[in-house]
Parts: sequence; C-alpha cells; structure tokens
Amino acid sequence: MNAPPPLPPRAADYKFCLRCGQTLERRLVEGVLRPVCPACRKIHFIDPKVAVAVIVERGEQLLLIQRRGDPEKGKWSMPAGFVDAGEDPARAAEREVREETGLHVRVTALLDVIAKTEPAEGADILIVYRAEAVGGSLTPGDDAAAAGYFAPADLPADLAFASTRTVITRWLAGR
Ligand SMILES: [Zn+2]
Repeated sequence: MNAPPPLPPRAADYKFCLRCGQTLERRLVEGVLRPVCPACRKIHFIDPKVAVAVIVERGEQLLLIQRRGDPEKGKWSMPAGFVDAGEDPARAAEREVREETGLHVRVTALLDVIAKTEPAEGADILIVYRAEAVGGSLTPGDDAAAAGYFAPADLPADLAFASTRTVITRWLAGR
C-alpha cells in the first residue's frame, strides 16, 4: 500500500472553513491531499507565499542590510520582504527598501524568479528586482542593524541564506 501524499505546505494550519466555519476534512483532490469543507464543499487551496528581494545598485556596488532579528540575525542580505495581497510586487520591493534602509528607489528591471527558497525565509516564490536610488537617505530601519553599499569583491563574510549568494552571483553574471 502506498503512503498517503503529504499535505501541501501550511495546509495543516487550516482547521476550519473560511467560508462557513465547519471543521475541515482532508481529502484527496486530483492526487493532492487538501483541506476540504464537508458542509459547503469548498476546497481550500493554499496560495504560495511570495516575497521580493532587491538589488539596489550604485555603480559597481550593491546595497545590503544586516538583519536585526531572526532568522539569520546579524547576517547580511538584500532588502526583502513579503508581498501583500493586492500589492504590485515591484511596489512591494520599493516599499521594503524604503522601510529597511530609508532609501527611495525605483525598480529598473526584473532579475530573477526563484522557486521554493529556504524554509527559514518563509517564501515559496522569491522575485528579485534590480533598482536604483532616487531619493531618501541611507538609515537602517527597524528590521536592520546596519545598511551599506558593498563592492562584489568586498562582500561581508556572513551572508544570510544561501539564496543571497545565488542572487548576487546571477546579478554579477548579468551585468
Ligand atoms: Zn464550508
């Protein structure tokens, strides 16, 4: 006998129907185990969590922040964060940079879309943009202990998340 398929990520958090409040059951729907409402028959599909990360360029340098909190506290990464429902991801990218560094930036290009990033990052899809500063002043925000521009040859040794180095490598390859 085959083992039942695993629940999709976060599906175990779904206990009650969002539409009618009934306790959910788990049923196979086209080969995938999903929370299903036995009363109103709503199938609760789990939407992917989408995050944005931003390479803010200044000449040959890019902007990094030192993370104030967990995960990866004290390590360095690009400004990044989750996209809100209804929010244009490019605007989310500009918002995250503003919140974390005080800089006002303009997205200039899409660099990459990365599927299934590390669990610690909490995103299923990471959209990476290139951007340039158009105003503001460099001041670490609530989530950042420090922020600064770095040359590729002079990056901090303790980069957060494997994806940070992957993204920087792809950025360098595309210049
Ligand atoms: Zn229901």
